[in-house]
Amino acid sequence: MLKLLTNAEVYAPAPLGRNHILVAAGKIIWMGQRLPKLGPELEVEVCDLGGQRLIPGIIDGHAHITGGGGESGYSSRVPPLPLTRFTRDGITTVVGVLGTDDITRHPVALLARVRGLCEEGLSAYCHTGGYHLPPVTITGSVRGDIVHIDRMIGVGEVAISDHRSSQPRFDELLRLASEAHVAGLMTGKAGLVHLHLGDGERGLEMVRRALDTTELPARVFNPTHVNRRRALFEESLDLAERGCTVDITAFPVEDDEDAWSAEDALLRYLEAGLPPQRVTVSSDGGGCLPVYNSQCELVRIGVGDPGALVGCLQTLLRRNAPLELVLPAFTANVASLLRLGGKGVIGVGADADLVVLDGDARVRDVMALGRWHLRGGKTTIRGSFEEAES
Ligand code: ZN
Repeated sequence: MLKLLTNAEVYAPAPLGRNHILVAAGKIIWMGQRLPKLGPELEVEVCDLGGQRLIPGIIDGHAHITGGGGESGYSSRVPPLPLTRFTRDGITTVVGVLGTDDITRHPVALLARVRGLCEEGLSAYCHTGGYHLPPVTITGSVRGDIVHIDRMIGVGEVAISDHRSSQPRFDELLRLASEAHVAGLMTGKAGLVHLHLGDGERGLEMVRRALDTTELPARVFNPTHVNRRRALFEESLDLAERGCTVDITAFPVEDDEDAWSAEDALLRYLEAGLPPQRVTVSSDGGGCLPVYNSQCELVRIGVGDPGALVGCLQTLLRRNAPLELVLPAFTANVASLLRLGGKGVIGVGADADLVVLDGDARVRDVMALGRWHLRGGKTTIRGSFEEAES
């Protein structure tokens, strides 16, 4: 059935004013400021948005969709995230990763979860590998996985400057980046090395060295968690200037921590006058948030929440940041880095991944590939085995 969304205040992410949008077969097929003439033979569901803001579906470029964790015994393995953990908070596209535990978890299971989420109506992708080298793969190589497996778009999260990393050598990192880069060239996929940055003082030194001494393009190196230490964040700004896209994580930050909250980090990035398209925000949802003492013993552990993304957006709006300024980091920038055509934007030909925000920037309605998953704040599509809300 055709769906006509009327009176939407469109942020595409650029502000386009009041528009009507026609959706068919999972795509936006028409958009304009005057109502289209549709013949009576067409069955059309009309939804008047009454001037509410309509934004592209949020793209979470880093989530542990199988559940992450495992750093504190087998019982600390986080369970898989169900569909509505994404859709209820406006996420319509997700990229799954493996982290510390890439041994009791495997890219095969990650890929199966990706396919499961796709069957349930989300757009889902993943990276091959995990924290460690040699990377765990399905076909025997990173290049093979990205070239042969439709949903695999890069490798990661590969850990550097972290006590949980496999302490990769510089030449090992280069080999990995070359595999991802060449696979990206062959397929048109992202072909990235998505780098988990730990708290280590070495920070992004290896990435700088790679840019200084090799032919590899900067876009291939995609560091995440760059806001976890303030000095690391400064390093990441230099890399953004040189062509890397840096990923901020929306994890909770205490006032006395040597970290920037995602809101602070994004505003700092944008105020630094760096290319506005080279910054993204991801959730680390389903990953564990461990705190270690000086002997790398676990002190406490939490779990990342995909909803932290829209929470971050809401905080930014409360702080009077213009929506069009901050929205690309959650949508268009992610799509362009990950080479996801038709994602992250509102326009004719784009996928119908749409989120309606109410006056308080709460997620009111969510459409993924033309299907409503949330209407008026209520879930309309649940994942398999998800309990109905009472
Ligand atoms: Zn990580």
